Amino acid sequence: KLHNTILELKGNVRVFCRVRPLLHDEEDVVGTEPLVQYPNSTELMGRGIELVQGQGQKHTFSFDKVFGPEVMQEDVFVEISQLVQSALDGYKVCIFAYGQTGSGKTHTMLGNQDQPEQRGIIPRSLEQIFKTSQALSSTGWSFRMQASMLEIYNETIRDLLARPGNGNEPAKQHVVKHDQNGNTTVSDLSLVDVSNWKEVASLLQRAAQSRSVGKTAMNEQSSRSHCVFTLRLSGMNESTEQQVHGVLNLIDLAGSERLSRSCSTGDRLKETQAINKSLSSLGDVILAIGNKEQHIPYRNSKLTYLLQPCLGGDSKTLMFVNISPDSKSLNESLCSLRFAAKVN
Ligand code: ADP
Ligand code: MG
Repeated sequence: KLHNTILELKGNVRVFCRVRPLLHDEEDVVGTEPLVQYPNSTELMGRGIELVQGQGQKHTFSFDKVFGPEVMQEDVFVEISQLVQSALDGYKVCIFAYGQTGSGKTHTMLGNQDQPEQRGIIPRSLEQIFKTSQALSSTGWSFRMQASMLEIYNETIRDLLARPGNGNEPAKQHVVKHDQNGNTTVSDLSLVDVSNWKEVASLLQRAAQSRSVGKTAMNEQSSRSHCVFTLRLSGMNESTEQQVHGVLNLIDLAGSERLSRSCSTGDRLKETQAINKSLSSLGDVILAIGNKEQHIPYRNSKLTYLLQPCLGGDSKTLMFVNISPDSKSLNESLCSLRFAAKVN
């Protein structure tokens, strides 16, 4: 089973590729030949993926796992549930969704809350953690869990759980600090105690409202900022006096579409440059960790600096690379797969 290998390979980065189904209006666009193929695999999930360009030119990639368009949310979660669980054992875990806007990042991380089978990694992870921590209480364990949610936009942190003020206060400057023990604090960031899924669901709602207050719609906003959900878990066993401190970070990254295509100027250009900088820094950091390099360039972006203690060391990192299967997205898909192959 693959998820066992995730546990063994601590400090390593796993990459899962997920291809979403064609959406209704995309179906006509695709030619007779399928754009995305799955070589050497008759199963639902394989390890290889091929992109077919015009004139039959093929680009082949392989990852720790490739999920085709029929793979359901539940099947994806089965593959990561052990990794999520390890946060209760005191590990620092990061799960990222990388890909162009519209490729299925939010579907993978959050999904649709109104349809139980369409719920993504965040709700499923939290429910599992609450369930397991409850079961552990019979063996003397009690856990304190605190959630936070922030957005990184233009290299600036915004607290998505902050209570709305009267609009006259200056925006808070959130400063990231790490202590000797690898604990991270973000100044003035809301940390909310949670003990069941309902509480988390209401936080997600609060965050969604906070994201959409600007003049841009949430969907547009979300393509330009990184959204970081963090759960801190502190466990204490009353009989053995053992303690564990785990962290689970679930990150919906900004859209990876490139500078060149956006024809940006002014503010948009600054935004795109900030996104490119942080995504490429993330790639550089993961690559440096994989190569066991002496110097890991965490400080090159807010995102990698924030997540520093949760990347590398004995933490566990999983990156989803989300792919759109439509022919319009071929170039972006190729870029995403190359990025992911580089860090894998
Ligand atoms: P992103 O967050 O990367 O911009 P979304 O998650 O919003 O992309 O996905 C774009 C659209 O595709 C949404 O309508 C979403 O519901 C749909 N979608 C994405 N992945 C899947 C999937 N695996 N199965 C069904 N629909 C999907
Ligand atoms: Mg999204």
